[in-house]
Amino acid sequence: MKKVVSVVEDILSANDRLAELNRSRLDRSGVFAINVMASPGAGKTSLIVRTVEALKTEFRIGAVNGDLATTIDADRIANTGIVTVQVNTGGACHLDAPMLQSALAHLPLDELDLLIVENVGNLVCPAGFKLGVHRNILIASVPEGDDKPYKYPVMYQDVDALVLNKIDVLAAFDFNIDYFRRGVEILNPNLAFFPLSCKTGEGLAAWFEWLRNEVRGYVSGRTGADR
Ligand code: MG
Ligand code: ZN
Repeated sequence: MKKVVSVVEDILSANDRLAELNRSRLDRSGVFAINVMASPGAGKTSLIVRTVEALKTEFRIGAVNGDLATTIDADRIANTGIVTVQVNTGGACHLDAPMLQSALAHLPLDELDLLIVENVGNLVCPAGFKLGVHRNILIASVPEGDDKPYKYPVMYQDVDALVLNKIDVLAAFDFNIDYFRRGVEILNPNLAFFPLSCKTGEGLAAWFEWLRNEVRGYVSGRTGADR
């Protein structure tokens, strides 16, 4: 039992060391990176496509798309015209730091301001594997139900921003947004919360504004450090 635990710890600490190298690599090129996590069908790709369309005139954006086997999502993102690297996880249900390291080697990092990483659709283990990005984003969606923060606390604990997608169907799914929010606040009182609909566009502006400020804050912080 003790040995099993230490093996898992070794794997995670090896991953964390590589995540730190990824962060250094990103910082060397001045690329602000976000990791987008969610269960399958919550709208990761839809939010990424909307975000790229809204911000691509302000920032030079690249994407990494983690997927079990297909290139459907990567193709959708690449259709926005930005450079996109597909990571085929070969069945692994999350991205890890070595996979992101490989993807970074295929990106023109010196020509990017923002890198959006779409993790594999999974609400369980992506949170356990640090990638070295600057912010972690979780997308929940109304059809999944308002009890998800209570059932998957680990996913909600360490993220910096939470998007609640598909608010256009709140009534149809009898989703209690106050109950959902209370569950989130117990776990992570300081996170930024964005209820929105990628379909109707409602609420998207607040999310764009938050991300815009995060990227600008990163860029200006670096400029300050260089002086
Ligand atoms: Mg997707
Ligand atoms: Zn996994």
